[in-house]
Amino acid sequence: MLGAVMYAAGDVRVEERERPTVVNPTDAVIRLSATCVCGSDLWPWRGADPVTRPTPMGHEYVGVVEEVGDAVRNVKVGDFVIGSFFASDNTCEICRAGYQTSCVHREFVAGGAQAEYLRVPLADGTLVATPGMPEPDLVPSLLAASDVLGTGWFGAVAAQVGPGRTVAVVGDGAVGLLGVLAARQLGAARIIAMSRYESRQKLALEFGATDLVTERGDEGVARIRELTDGLGAHSVIEAVGTQESMMQAIRATRAGGHVGFVGVSHGVELPGEELFFSHVHLHGGPAPVRRFLPELIRLVWDREIDPGRVFDLELPLSEAAEGYRAMDERRAIKVLLRP
Ligand SMILES: [Zn+2]
Repeated sequence: MLGAVMYAAGDVRVEERERPTVVNPTDAVIRLSATCVCGSDLWPWRGADPVTRPTPMGHEYVGVVEEVGDAVRNVKVGDFVIGSFFASDNTCEICRAGYQTSCVHREFVAGGAQAEYLRVPLADGTLVATPGMPEPDLVPSLLAASDVLGTGWFGAVAAQVGPGRTVAVVGDGAVGLLGVLAARQLGAARIIAMSRYESRQKLALEFGATDLVTERGDEGVARIRELTDGLGAHSVIEAVGTQESMMQAIRATRAGGHVGFVGVSHGVELPGEELFFSHVHLHGGPAPVRRFLPELIRLVWDREIDPGRVFDLELPLSEAAEGYRAMDERRAIKVLLRP
C-alpha cells in the first residue's frame, strides 16, 4: 500500500509500505476513505521536532473496516468508522471520566494514517461507527471530527464555554476555527476570533464569530480587554501552543475565567507569580476526542454543522508533500488527502 513517511524536516515521501494486518485480537484494520495533514505535523516538517528516523505520518482517519480481531465486538467488517489519535479502551476509570487520551491502556495510533490502510488498536473502545455509509459530501466533516473538530470542541468545553459567555479564540488554524464553531454550538453570547488572514477571518465569521481581532501579543490582549469592558473574556481557547499564544490566552481571560489550551505545547513556561495573581483556571491537553465523537457524528450526520469547510485543498495521497508545503506556507488552512 501507499503511505506517507517523513525522512527529515521538509522531506515527506509517499512510498510503498507494508499493509497493516490485525496483530492483537482487539485490533481492527480500516481502509481509509480520507485522511489529512495536521497542524501538529508541521512541527517536525519545520524542524521544531527532531525526526530521528523515517516516520509514518498521519493520525486523522475515517474509513471502512476491512478486518477485525477475534475479540472485537462493537464494529464489524464493512462499517464506516471514525477514531481519534489515541486508542483507548473506553472502559477504565479515566475513560469513564471522559479522559480517553489518558486511558490507562492508551496507545498512539502510530501506524501512519496518511496511507491506504491503518491498524487501529483497542477497536471496540476507539472506533465509532456512523449510522450507515455517509454521502460523499459528509466525509470531510466526519474526518474533521477525528481530530480538529474534537480538539476545538474540547478547547471550548475546557474553557467552560456556555450560554451568556464571551469567548476569545487564540489561533486561526483548523482547531481555532472549529473552536469558534464549538463555541457557537455551546451557546456562547459573543465569540472573538483572533486572526490576521482574510480567508480565515471569513470562515471564522461563517462558523459564528461575532468579532475579529487582528492584533497579537500584548496588543491583542489590550484589544480583547477593550471589547469586554476592561475585564477580559470569560472563556479563552488557546489553539497554537507557543509561549506567546499561551500568555496571550491567559492575559485575555478575566479573573475567575477559564482557558482551554489545546495547542500542542512547545517550549511554554508559565510564570508562577503572574498565574497566582491572575485568578484564571487552566485546563487542556490532548483532546479526549472519543468523549465527543458520538455527539459530533450526530451533528454532522444531521447536517447541523459543516466542519469539513476547514479543508480548503484536496490532493491525492501521492501528493502529500505538496499538502505539507501548502499548509506550511499558509496557502491552505487544512489539506485533505484522498488515498
Ligand atoms: Zn481507558
